[in-house]
Amino acid sequence: MTFPTTPEGWAIRLSQVVKIFHQTHELPRFPIKVASLAKEFSKQLFPNEPITMISGDELTDGIEGMLFPKPDESGEWGIIFNSSPTISKGRINFTLGHELGHYLLHRKRSPEGFKCTMRNMMDWDSEVGRMEAEANKFASYLLMPLDDFREQIKGQKVSMELMLFLAARYEVSVTAAILKWLEFTPKRAMLVFGKSGFIDWAWSSTPLIKSGIFYRARQETIQLPEKSLAAKGAAYSEFPEGIKHPGGVWAGNETVHETTIFSPQKEMSISLLIYPDYSSHNLYKNSAEFKKRREFDTFDKFKTNS
Ligand SMILES: [Zn+2]
Repeated sequence: MTFPTTPEGWAIRLSQVVKIFHQTHELPRFPIKVASLAKEFSKQLFPNEPITMISGDELTDGIEGMLFPKPDESGEWGIIFNSSPTISKGRINFTLGHELGHYLLHRKRSPEGFKCTMRNMMDWDSEVGRMEAEANKFASYLLMPLDDFREQIKGQKVSMELMLFLAARYEVSVTAAILKWLEFTPKRAMLVFGKSGFIDWAWSSTPLIKSGIFYRARQETIQLPEKSLAAKGAAYSEFPEGIKHPGGVWAGNETVHETTIFSPQKEMSISLLIYPDYSSHNLYKNSAEFKKRREFDTFDKFKTNS
């Protein structure tokens, strides 16, 4: 049997298995139960090195999850995920997908296993950074297969409500659902993650980058725009439909529709910005280079709580 070699390839292979299983047993396909899938699938495909243990623990030092070989050299593997009370269900599910990705893609290259933190891919060009990005890509494609994702949003108005629905359907964070949508949407849109009055990071869809609109929040300190819902700290319930800003509030000097939700402690905000649907002639010269550089920078975002 030949095995896939890419994150997408592995995710598609597993998705097919899950789909057939659920059709046969007339069960819902989502959310994907990664723990049982990992154990079953690894036992069938790699009977000499199955994943036999998956459990939660209150991990410290920012560790989200670990994949490691059983110390008795039996060939078996284990996964431990951070189950601290502050970690959401969606984040745990994504971490399990991420560790399963390491198992399928990287265990030969890194036989001592992995300890994964939120931010251990800052070094974009390192081997570790590449493997982290691949494991996240795998988790994203496994938990939110594109065929189903497209089906769910077909004919729907893009809104935060839709993103919350998708997050619940796939048991992922709302950030993960929005990033997935931004990956392929033809719309000009942006996700802005705010923290303590500043833009912690932001992510533009490719069509928006092509019109030159993005924030380099990793490189610069940028305040949340004063007139934004994110800066005002308005409760989501007050503006469930969001509001339309005139040009000049958010990047790009265009009208922008903003919907923002806040973390339970209110110190973090997630804003979905939708720009008007037209393609600008003023294409940003360096957009290709910018897109390439940020590729490695994407996927740790999926693991956020909200
Ligand atoms: Zn990892």
